[in-house]
Amino acid sequence: MPEIKTSQFVTASASAMLDPKLRRALDRVGSGFDVARRNAIEEVSSEAWEEWREEARQIKIHTLDHLDYYLELLYDNVTAAGGQVHFAADAAEANAIVGHLAQSRGVKVATKSKSMVSEELELNPVLESLGIDVYETDLGEYIIQLAEETPSHLVAPALHKSKEDVAELFADKLGLPYNEDIEVMAAAARVALRDKFMQADLGISGANFVVAETGTLVIVTNEGNGRLCTSAPRMHIGITGMEKVIPSMQDLAVFLRLLPRSATGQRISSYVSMITGPRREDDEDGPEEFHLVLVDNGRSRMLRDPKLREALYCIRCGACLNICPVYQRVGGHAYGWVYPGPIGAIVSPMLTGLKESKMLPQASSLCGACREACPVKINIPRMLLELRHRTAESEDPAERASSGSERFLARMYSRLMRSPGRMGFAASMGANRAEARAGDAEARRLDQAGAASPAVPLDQGTGPAGAAAQVLPGHLAG
Ligand code: SF4
Repeated sequence: MPEIKTSQFVTASASAMLDPKLRRALDRVGSGFDVARRNAIEEVSSEAWEEWREEARQIKIHTLDHLDYYLELLYDNVTAAGGQVHFAADAAEANAIVGHLAQSRGVKVATKSKSMVSEELELNPVLESLGIDVYETDLGEYIIQLAEETPSHLVAPALHKSKEDVAELFADKLGLPYNEDIEVMAAAARVALRDKFMQADLGISGANFVVAETGTLVIVTNEGNGRLCTSAPRMHIGITGMEKVIPSMQDLAVFLRLLPRSATGQRISSYVSMITGPRREDDEDGPEEFHLVLVDNGRSRMLRDPKLREALYCIRCGACLNICPVYQRVGGHAYGWVYPGPIGAIVSPMLTGLKESKMLPQASSLCGACREACPVKINIPRMLLELRHRTAESEDPAERASSGSERFLARMYSRLMRSPGRMGFAASMGANRAEARAGDAEARRLDQAGAASPAVPLDQGTGPAGAAAQVLPGHLAG
């Protein structure tokens, strides 16, 4: 797994708050993604939105209550379509499976579309140690691979970088003339990656969803790289957490309405790719082999925890990050691991251990805005509170919040959140702040634009207008 720096949250967030470049990048999060999300909800009506949220939540509850059944169904249908399914208990096993497949097929070059799970596993260094050249092909991921950094947002991994940063990086690493024009930079990356797509004998992707009844892997993205990675090389390996399974294509429909609107405010992403097995005899293209690696890596533990299993409903849309007052101050890297923001403050302690990540549940005002924004209605504040309770009461001193005052605070929060009246007050304070921020952002945008054009130009399939850092938020999670 990537180096876990969650224990450094306090010092990392203090220095993040003093970084003016990061400040400007984070300002765009609220004024871009979150305003776009609100506009998208307004367009469909809040009544319809609430119905979709509830439907999605019920699907997640049902699927995780019957996960064994759906994983078996998925296995049968992937196999029937000519693919192979591999179950990996942990990161080492997942990396060994992918490494073995790659080595035994003589792979020299691998292209990847965006996959948060592969970041969690730290797959790239493992493949590189086997002599395989690995290229990230999602534009944001490509930028951070060149910069030798980690993602700072679930949807826009290079959100912390300005267009000037990227221009410098491309000049330094690609030997190009310095040019801050976003279209020029995107075109340069396209040219640099085109050769890699042609050379690759392995394509690796994540998955936003896997459909049990058909054995289909679904990728929701704004860039064409996902299709090139999954169809051009002779082998495609999809890697995903086992919680990404959903029962049917009919269930997929509601998630395809919720995910792009929640992530970037789009009605639909530029590409929705559905991959069922390798190429058939009469197919013109496609891989000869298709493998699906389903990763546990701590998810079974979450599933067994009745108070925290809800975190597995997450579809990684990033909406809770975009609205979180803490994320907006400190950014993604301060959280110290792959999953930042409010959902990361739950997932990281569950996957890396409370000893290591005990400070993350403290990183919240408990305003409730994340719960309101979440398309699957995940009760993030309740779980943060549960983790605070555990850090306050643990028998193991290493799991306890380090000082007496932190334990006191955790207990006070615990009491506050047990009172519905006080919780409602705290949530309304958070919602008011979020509304105010959205109003400010909208006013700023109209001032700058001088016209009522949409915050997110849907026809371009991009994220927030002017958010140069992410250029195109490509694969919407996974
Ligand atoms: S917790 Fe909800 S809002 Fe946050 S990333 Fe997951 S699905 Fe999106």
